Amino acid sequence: MRDLEELKQEVLSCAKCPLHQTRTHAVFGNGNPHAAILLIAEAPGFYEDKSGQVFQGKSGELLDKILAASGFNRNVHMYISNIVKCRPPKNRPPNETEKTACLPYLYQQIEIIDPKIIILMGATAVKGLIHPNAKITQIRGQWIDWRGRLALATYHPSALLRNPQLKRPGWEDFKRVVVKYRELINAEHHSDYC
Ligand code: SF4
Repeated sequence: MRDLEELKQEVLSCAKCPLHQTRTHAVFGNGNPHAAILLIAEAPGFYEDKSGQVFQGKSGELLDKILAASGFNRNVHMYISNIVKCRPPKNRPPNETEKTACLPYLYQQIEIIDPKIIILMGATAVKGLIHPNAKITQIRGQWIDWRGRLALATYHPSALLRNPQLKRPGWEDFKRVVVKYRELINAEHHSDYC
């Protein structure tokens, strides 16, 4: 099996879809390559495209806050990546051609990292990994089987910033992740939150 670094080098110079023409950096993913949790979001945004790192800016700050309250650190407990690795212009959702071209990279990341828990953040992550017709409003907060791994859909932090009413269910989802992490990985896992 290829290793993550080899795959990363391929992604950084990838030109398989038109998004390579407008990107500054392809954003492969960051975190612990041996983590039990893989967090998947939609695509790089403005700050991610500039820096080449996942979850920067206000969404990244909110994610770190949620993770800290849950006793998680993005560099220790998880690996974070996206459905597509290059920023769609004006942050529009990636289209079918782009997703189809890029998803094989994510599948390989999943195989190499071998996470027990997958967190899908936002509608594009849900549609990209589960099914094009899957709706986040219908499956959010439920553990589902994804090819023998447990997956949980939750809102993207940018949705929580836009709509404060989603914050409570979003935080509830992370309580579920903490409970599952204790069950599967570390019974002693500490969280200030639950
Ligand atoms: S979005 Fe994915 S498939 Fe398209 S150019 Fe970037 S890395 Fe390649």
